[in-house]
Amino acid sequence: MKFLFVLLLSIGSFNVLAVEVVIHNVSSLSSNAQNTVSTWVNQSVEKTQNTLGPLKQTTLPIYLKPQYFAFEPVPWATVKRNNPDGLELHIDRYASLNAFTKDWTLYHELSHLYLPLLPYSGFWLSEGFASYMQNVIMRDSGIITQPQFVQRLNAGFDRARLQTKTKTQPLNKLSADMWKQRAQQRVYWTGAAFFAQADLELQKRGLSVAGIIKQYQTCCRPARSSAKTFIKELDKLSGSSIFTTLYAKYNTRTDFPDISKKQLNTL
Ligand SMILES: [Zn+2]
Repeated sequence: MKFLFVLLLSIGSFNVLAVEVVIHNVSSLSSNAQNTVSTWVNQSVEKTQNTLGPLKQTTLPIYLKPQYFAFEPVPWATVKRNNPDGLELHIDRYASLNAFTKDWTLYHELSHLYLPLLPYSGFWLSEGFASYMQNVIMRDSGIITQPQFVQRLNAGFDRARLQTKTKTQPLNKLSADMWKQRAQQRVYWTGAAFFAQADLELQKRGLSVAGIIKQYQTCCRPARSSAKTFIKELDKLSGSSIFTTLYAKYNTRTDFPDISKKQLNTL
């Protein structure tokens, strides 16, 4: 692996299960940092795929933006929708492999790639899924413990509950207006609660959100979708009306759902 990085000076390329990860601009890092970043990205894709199954795309471009000064390992990141979809990662060029691994950002962004691009009004679903899954992936791969998993979700839910008092629009309307209103906490974590509740329901049937999304990749994930079509596909795959029923409750809700720590601990 090391030789491969030495040989490919401007682009690092390697195979992780089915998807080929191509890291652009890796050559702007020191050779030590190139190894660190490549290992981190490689391992994160593997951890994500262990939970959510193989990514549908065969190539995953990663666009690196290394920073000289940063207060966290990944101060900013975003999905670049294209053919194929990729990720732009702003990184601390001096961060250690351990610091990168413990940062939630990459697991969050990779999770986004499992869903189609939804309209702005459906961003609570996209951000909710990524915010929930970042914690599931980190728990499944042993980066965080089960109590930390519960604590992190619950902390997000608390921030959303608090913001529900001041950001009072129906969830779909607030999603479309999220940046202007700075309503990320309510949008992200109410969406995460949706997927936590879906998981609680699916569990009774021996199913899981991750398992359904895994099937969704192979059968029917398009590049773009309406929220309703997406939800209907998940119900078809689960052989239930769990997602449609929850969607009807969540899409225009103005409150925060009741989910206890005890319930979260069963996930
Ligand atoms: Zn996101």
